[in-house]
Amino acid sequence: MTAPTADESKLRADLVRIMRKMAASGLNKGASGNASVRLGDGMLITPSGVVPDLMDEESIVRIAADGSTAPGARRPSSEWEMHWHILQRREDIDAVVHCHSRYATILACCRRPIEPVHYMVSVTGGAEVPVAPYQIFGTPELATSVVGTIGKRLACLMANHGQIALGHTLDHAFAVAEEVEEQAAVYYGATLLGSPHVLTESQMADIFRRFEDYGQKR
Ligand code: 13P
Ligand code: ZN
Repeated sequence: MTAPTADESKLRADLVRIMRKMAASGLNKGASGNASVRLGDGMLITPSGVVPDLMDEESIVRIAADGSTAPGARRPSSEWEMHWHILQRREDIDAVVHCHSRYATILACCRRPIEPVHYMVSVTGGAEVPVAPYQIFGTPELATSVVGTIGKRLACLMANHGQIALGHTLDHAFAVAEEVEEQAAVYYGATLLGSPHVLTESQMADIFRRFEDYGQKR
């Protein structure tokens, strides 16, 4: 492996940190989940089947612009093609996280999208969080299914599997994944209590407009 630049070293450290953060926050258990970040024409991605506690900067895998890895590198995440195709098609984002967070996975197992019952679902860039059709994990077919479902959004569920979230940075992608999990839990609970009131298209459009003037502007 050619020596990493300072920028690459920082991104490698960020990947290890975000995997540990997903474990600490309960979004992932054991070796589940993975994360990637754009590096030039290629990407950096977590190694396959390694628990976050045992990951270090050196175990992160660099994938070159032609999809190859350097001799001697660890095996990349089994979902590397899913990350790869998203980063190639979505120039507006630079980071991807995938996790098996509990409530998102419960809905994904029932193949139920998260409907807009709470305004914060808009953090995902869409009025609802759809479910990508089932494909076995770690396959090009799953990559195609996810790319086709997520469209221009920042997140989708993956049937009988989990969720994927995108962001400008790894911390942004983590925040989206955390909100997807919260929205999944709220939707699950509201559905158990009865028939939640789903916000209308025009109410969601108002929410997107309201967000344009929200928070610190400088
Ligand atoms: P990897 O350890 O290969 O990234 O697999 C974890 C996972 O969640 C597969 O979907
Ligand atoms: Zn997975």
